Amino acid sequence: MYTLKDANYEGYLVGGCVRDLLLGHHPKDFDVATNATPEQVKALFRNSRIIGRRFQIVHVRFGREIIEVTTFRGPHDGENTQHVSDEGMLLRDNVYGTLEQDAWRRDFTINALYYTVKDFSLVDYTHGMDDLRSKTIRMIGDPEVRFKEDPVRMLRAIRFAGKLNFKIQHDDEVSIKKALDENIHLLEAVSSARLFDEVLKLFMSGYAKAVYELLLKEDIYRRLFPFEQAVDTEFYVEFVKQGLVNTDIRIQQEKPVTPAFLFAVLLWPEVEVLSKKLESQDMPVIQAINIAGQEVIEKVNARITIPKRFRYMMRDIWALQVRLPNRAGRRAYKLLEQKRFRAGYDFLLLRSQVLNKAVNESDITCSTATALAELAEWWTQFQAEPEAGRKSMLNALPQAKPKRRKKTKKHA
Ligand code: ATP
Ligand code: MG
Repeated sequence: MYTLKDANYEGYLVGGCVRDLLLGHHPKDFDVATNATPEQVKALFRNSRIIGRRFQIVHVRFGREIIEVTTFRGPHDGENTQHVSDEGMLLRDNVYGTLEQDAWRRDFTINALYYTVKDFSLVDYTHGMDDLRSKTIRMIGDPEVRFKEDPVRMLRAIRFAGKLNFKIQHDDEVSIKKALDENIHLLEAVSSARLFDEVLKLFMSGYAKAVYELLLKEDIYRRLFPFEQAVDTEFYVEFVKQGLVNTDIRIQQEKPVTPAFLFAVLLWPEVEVLSKKLESQDMPVIQAINIAGQEVIEKVNARITIPKRFRYMMRDIWALQVRLPNRAGRRAYKLLEQKRFRAGYDFLLLRSQVLNKAVNESDITCSTATALAELAEWWTQFQAEPEAGRKSMLNALPQAKPKRRKKTKKHA
């Protein structure tokens, strides 16, 4: 910002970083808005490059950080520059504008606060400070119009409400909530690649549980995931919540989280119910879990593109759920060597944690819950034991049952 100022340009911190700093949070990244054109910005910073085609922005590198520098954007001049995408979404060409114009085209008032080092002041055209104080997510302009322009803003409203613990504005006249209800079907027009990015942002924000609760409350969750089985039971909602709580904790501790594990959690209710159904039709468990996993992934993937490497990992995690009980002989060692063992084991712990919590709370006994807890405990111990300990753990296992040959019709 000082570099811009010294070159006689305007420069402002804007968006999430200003909002988060004012709230006492740690900003994820920093965005700068300026009246300098991308070429002028590039000329000022050695470590910079211009990206984007339709609307160019400049990435300026500072050590490990990348600062996104954007030239003020202006309004679109009327109808003639508007066109509609193949999917029916309004598109508008971007043009440069003034600071004030730049403010009005942002999404929410709390995201349109500008800070400058020229006089260390905050610029607030949209009354964002009021909404920051009253903890309100308020759309700039008519929510109806703004959601039609870009339906992803609906998910952004939920994300910020969950992350900041703000309420979504719903005064009588203009109401984000009402516009949400009426326009949620527009999410279907969003490309599946962009939806994947947005879903990741929703659930890798460190506030996934709060976001999930809001998505359920606003009836948006089922719009994102085209599930067919009855998976919105209390038990499965609790399962997903616990999975998300664990993810939130990991993110807050700055531990890595893989999208594959996250999606494995989100889709598990549907996969497990379907898999049980297939089992009840006499399909072997491993085949049932594989087919169920494949079907569910295919269906979801049509809406939200999950990159292939994550899809493979999800299926491995699920398959391990039926493979981990079979430990006898060399199998335990083989499983331990599996690339996905750790993720599969973590997933097993999660399942056991949720099931046993549900059982304890309802004061009944459940052999499946006990067995799952014992299995999870066994694997925890097996990993920690030295070789001798492992051997005796394996010897203590009940002998593997000899494979029973299926009776043929003739014998029967
Ligand atoms: P985060 O903490 O998640 O990064 P953010 O508010 O910085 O939150 P970004 O996606 O980084 O969100 O966007 C930066 C800023 O750009 C926003 O604060 C907002 O002013 C503007 N913006 C981003 N996406 C949109 C959109 N779809 N429509 C209008 N304005 C947007
Ligand atoms: Mg940001």
